[in-house]
Amino acid sequence: MGKCYPEKMYATGAVGQTHFGASENGDMIEEGFIDDYMMPNLTAYNETCANLCNAMFSFRMLGIHGQAKYADIIELVMHNSGLSGISVEGKDYFYANPLRMLHNTRDYNAHADVTETPDREGYLACFCCPPNLVRTISNLSGWAYSLADNGVHVNLYGSNNLTTTMLDGSAIKLTQDTEYPWKGLVKLTVESCKSDAFDIALRVPEWATGATITINGEDAGVKATPATYAVLHRNWKAGDVIVIDIPMEATFIEGHQRIEEVRNQVAIKRGPVVYCIETPDLPDDVSVLDVYVKGDSELAVDYQPDFLGGTAIITADTYLRSREQGAMYTAVKKPDWQETRTKFVPYYAWSNRGTAEMTVFVPVVWK
Ligand SMILES: [Zn+2]
Repeated sequence: MGKCYPEKMYATGAVGQTHFGASENGDMIEEGFIDDYMMPNLTAYNETCANLCNAMFSFRMLGIHGQAKYADIIELVMHNSGLSGISVEGKDYFYANPLRMLHNTRDYNAHADVTETPDREGYLACFCCPPNLVRTISNLSGWAYSLADNGVHVNLYGSNNLTTTMLDGSAIKLTQDTEYPWKGLVKLTVESCKSDAFDIALRVPEWATGATITINGEDAGVKATPATYAVLHRNWKAGDVIVIDIPMEATFIEGHQRIEEVRNQVAIKRGPVVYCIETPDLPDDVSVLDVYVKGDSELAVDYQPDFLGGTAIITADTYLRSREQGAMYTAVKKPDWQETRTKFVPYYAWSNRGTAEMTVFVPVVWK
């Protein structure tokens, strides 16, 4: 098992920490990678194309090495920093995908060929990301399975039908039924296959603890270890049913202690989906910067079929802090907290309800 999160990758699978940097020759460049663990939220570039490239590169590495950690990155990008590049309606786009957005804090027109926008736009001056994203979504079914020496690897979960030819020339048909990522129950039915024994290998996501696998209702006898493929070897026949049941717990995540930009902050993740808060869900006079989350809060999950294209929202106990816009540094007074509960929405679905400010990481309070 290897590390799933390289030291320059965001919790959303995004890459490309800065808009500006310098080459080894000292020449000015746009779209830069900087030091490990240096992960700005507000000023991150995270171009949609760069995030998709992270998934594309991972698919090729998966083809070479067959390691689940690469499929984990594909899943992470496609549920978060790739998908955030397009609106729920499919008409408006982001070029940059920072993890925090505050308006009127940066001059978006300060440089030529501006690529960062505070709202999704129907047309981007540098129009690479929109077609790149829609073609990648269209091709994603081609990444769902891989062929191995004597079997099929299931890389990605989502309802589909597989009809393909294995490497020995034999035909196989599988059906996958699931409501993933909102539910972690995945049912695979063998529709037809060869009579000789072969492998069906299921990816166990790196975040999945307590997953179980059954075949025709009985324990498959294979441990579902996170960030590996669980290999099921047998003589399969039409009608065989494999079920992998992955608990979808909403959890707080924190960054490595060396990431200064998220120290004492947490984000919410459920399965592969990273959440954020945005201003349409806050009282009018509250900034996303003034929301603190209670560290031991219950995280309530509610699937809402008519909200943002059908999505699970999460609510958590929060404290709102009223604070005057201060000087650069001021003496600290004990905050006058307002206790409430705040809605978190999937990061990919932010900026679909008009102009909004947003943050993925939120300061945490333990009382
Ligand atoms: Zn692009």
